[in-house]
Amino acid sequence: MDRIVILTGAGVSAESGLGTFRDKDGLWTRYDLSEVATPEGYARNPRLVLDFYNARRANALDASPNAAHRALARLQEGFAGEVLLVTQNIDNLHERGGSREVVHMHGEITRALCASCGHRWDAPREMAPSDLCPSCTAPATRPDIVWFGEMPYHMERILPALSEADLFVAIGTSGEVYPAAGFVEISEEAGAETLEINLDPAPAPGRFDRMIAGKATEAVPAWVAELLGS
Ligand code: NAD
Ligand code: ZN
Repeated sequence: MDRIVILTGAGVSAESGLGTFRDKDGLWTRYDLSEVATPEGYARNPRLVLDFYNARRANALDASPNAAHRALARLQEGFAGEVLLVTQNIDNLHERGGSREVVHMHGEITRALCASCGHRWDAPREMAPSDLCPSCTAPATRPDIVWFGEMPYHMERILPALSEADLFVAIGTSGEVYPAAGFVEISEEAGAETLEINLDPAPAPGRFDRMIAGKATEAVPAWVAELLGS
């Protein structure tokens, strides 16, 4: 086995204290998705949207990486073949857990994007509607997050890797948000083995070859140790 593609979701950061979206006490039970995670919601009420992400950013920066983030960094470092780590998470806990390369398909909470000219830069801790783009000076700054109705980033990198993968692993993701939810089928059709690691023993019945049920902080380090043989 030479090539592994890993997809992580909110479940990998849950034990660092960052809420998942679809769990029963998840964020989306408290916020209206069409108001805070769409371009239309931002156009209607930029203050509400920026404040929502200011709170997410503060939570993410105050959180610490956990044993699952660190184990995945250890795998990237110690595996003889290729490991592509793709995340749907907007936090930077993989990087802070030691991962040198992370493909953020849904963007990053620590980055800002100008809705007017497309310029990107490091986000301040707090963003406000009156902030000006450092490049074109338009008051149109937004978090560099992929909202519903927008194209995920880096698909040109992810899709070829899936079609060459020997193993595809989904960790802590509910498999409800496309296109990420379809990665298992793409890799399977290309001949990869598929593994799911999730707290919930049957989040996607029948879609993966193998399932490891458990907390990410326990199941991921155990799986990495098995794979690296140490
Ligand atoms: P989700 O909330 O839909 O699903 C989370 C999954 O993680 C569930 O299947 C749940 O059973 C599992 N899980 C919960 N706790 C776990 C644990 N301790 N160990 C292992 N598994 C656990 O999240 P998703 O699939 O990532 O999709 C939701 C979208 O929300 C994504 O687009 C993502 O960008 C965004 N999001 C990001 C963050 C973050 O950056 N930390 C947090 C919430 C949501
Ligand atoms: Zn601009």
